[in-house]
Amino acid sequence: MPGRRRRRRQRQRPDPPPTGFLDWTASTHWSQQARPCRYCGGLTNLRDSGRHPSHKTCAEAAIREQIRDQAAAYENERMTEGT
Ligand SMILES: [Zn+2]
Repeated sequence: MPGRRRRRRQRQRPDPPPTGFLDWTASTHWSQQARPCRYCGGLTNLRDSGRHPSHKTCAEAAIREQIRDQAAAYENERMTEGT
């Protein structure tokens, strides 16, 4: 049919919002005592869900990396299964 294009499979994933995707507004994510971030070592009063010292941006970067690795592993597995 003229004017109609075949849909290409989209490999691109949407970017997370610039404000971050974690909500750490609860008081459980805050401590009076600043301690070194588990990821970068910089001092922070923030705590992750396991109460470990962590910047919110560092935790989000770690989660993003984890998701990227898992998605890549999943896609690699699918490709080997198909052959
Ligand atoms: Zn950090």
